[in-house]
Amino acid sequence: MLDKVLIANRGEIALRIQRACFELGIKTVAAHSTVDANLKHVLMADETVCIGPGPSKQSYLDMPAIISAAEVTDASAIHPGYGFLSENADFAERVASSGFTFIGPPPELIRTMGDKVSAIKAMQAAGVPCVPGSNGELPEDPNECRRIARDIGYPVIIKAAGGGGGRGMRVVHSEGSLINSINLTKSEAGAAFGNEAVYMEKYLERPRHIEFQVMADNHGNAVHLFERDCSMQRRHQKVIEEAPAPGISHEVRMRMGERCAEACRQLGYTNAGTFEFLYQDGEFYFIEMNTRLQVEHPVTELITGIDIVKEQLLVAGGAQLSFTQDDVQLRGHAMECRINAEHPRTFVPSPGRVDTWHPPGGPGIRVDSHIYSGYSVPPYYDSMIGKLIAWGNTRETAIARMRGALAELVVDGIETNTLLHREIFQHAAFKKGGTDIHYLEKRLGL
Ligand code: ADP
Repeated sequence: MLDKVLIANRGEIALRIQRACFELGIKTVAAHSTVDANLKHVLMADETVCIGPGPSKQSYLDMPAIISAAEVTDASAIHPGYGFLSENADFAERVASSGFTFIGPPPELIRTMGDKVSAIKAMQAAGVPCVPGSNGELPEDPNECRRIARDIGYPVIIKAAGGGGGRGMRVVHSEGSLINSINLTKSEAGAAFGNEAVYMEKYLERPRHIEFQVMADNHGNAVHLFERDCSMQRRHQKVIEEAPAPGISHEVRMRMGERCAEACRQLGYTNAGTFEFLYQDGEFYFIEMNTRLQVEHPVTELITGIDIVKEQLLVAGGAQLSFTQDDVQLRGHAMECRINAEHPRTFVPSPGRVDTWHPPGGPGIRVDSHIYSGYSVPPYYDSMIGKLIAWGNTRETAIARMRGALAELVVDGIETNTLLHREIFQHAAFKKGGTDIHYLEKRLGL
C-alpha cells in the first residue's frame, strides 16, 4: 500500500486524486506552480512543494523539478492525472528509475500507444478492430500513396503518428489534392510533434465517439467498465459525455469490452486506460488508446459504483483488482458537462476572479471542481474549471437532473459555457441520443 502520493497536476483532477487518497489514508504532496498556491488541493495537502512559475513548461512539465519534489518529501508514488506529463513515457521511466511508483501503465506501453502507428499495429495483433488504412507509415513514393488511397476509397484522412489533441489531421476528398495534403501534414507534424511520420485511414463521415474504460492489475487481471459516448465535441474537444452509450446492446457492449480487456492481458497493460473507437453503421473502429485517467471517468464511476482513482492507487501499490468482471454491474445512466471558463458563443477563454461560485446539489448530482468564491482562474492552463455530473435510473432522469443542476449553477465574475450546456440540453436530437461527432458544430453553425 502506498503511504504518500505526490500529485503532479492541478485543478479539479488534483483534488479528485487527493479525495481518493484521503479515503485510503494515503498522505498527499501537492506539487504546484507559484500561481497555484491557493488551489483547493494545495490548501488541503499534507505537504506542498512549489515546483516553478506559472507557465507549465517551467512547472507541471518540468520533470526534474517534480522528481526532486518527490525526493524532498519522501513520497512513494507520483500520480500524473491527465494532460501534462501523464502520457509521457520518458517521465514514467524517470519516475521509476528514481525509485518511485508511477501511477499508470508500464512506460513501454505508454510509448507504444503514444505513437498512433505502433498503437494500431498492437491493436491489430490483439484482435481489436481498426479503421481500414495504410497499416503503417505512408511511403515516400507518391504513386504508392495514390494506390493506397484508391484501395481504401475516398474520402481518406491523413494523420500524424505523433499527433494528439485533435491536431495533425487532414481530410482528403479526391486524388488531386492527396500528395499536397500528405506533404502539408508531414511538415506540420514535424514542427508540432517532432515526428514527420504520417499514416492514412478511411475517413468516416458520420461516426460517433465511443470509448471503453479498462482497469488492470499487476497480477494478470483485466476488466472493462463498459463504454462512454463522447460524441458531443467541438474542435475534437469533448463537451458532454455520457455512459452508457445510447442504443448499444448489452451483448455488443460486453463483447467489445471483453476484447479491450483481453488486449490488456495480451499486452501486459496495467492500471486505468481507455480504448477510443469511432462507431458507424454498427461497427467499431479503434482510433487510439489513452494510457491514463480520463476527464470523463466520473460517468463510469456513477453507473458502476467503482471508484476508478482509488482502484488506480490500490493497483499501483501492488494489490489485485478489488472486483471481477462479474461484479461490475451497469446501473442507470450518467451525463457529464465540462464547465469551462470561456465565452459560451465565441469560446474565448475568460480567466479571472470568481466572485460567486454556487454549485448545484440534490439527488444524483456530483460536482468535481476546485473552484470557490474568491478564487482567481489563472490564464496559463486549460479553461476547464469543473464538471457537473448527473446520474439517474434512466437517461431521461439523468437529463432532467442535469437541467436542474445547470439552472442552479451560479458562477459570477468570469464567463462560462453554462449557457451553452443549458441550450444543448433542450435540443430534441440530443435528448433522443446517438448524435454523431459533427452534430454540435453543425448545430452551432461553427
Ligand atoms: P487525437 O489524439 O488528436 O485526439 P484521434 O485519433 O483520437 O486524435 O482523433 C481525434 C478525432 O478526429 C476523432 O475523435 C474524430 O473526431 C476525428 N477522426 C480521427 N480519425 C478519423 C477517421 N478515420 N474518420 C473520421 N474522423 C476521424
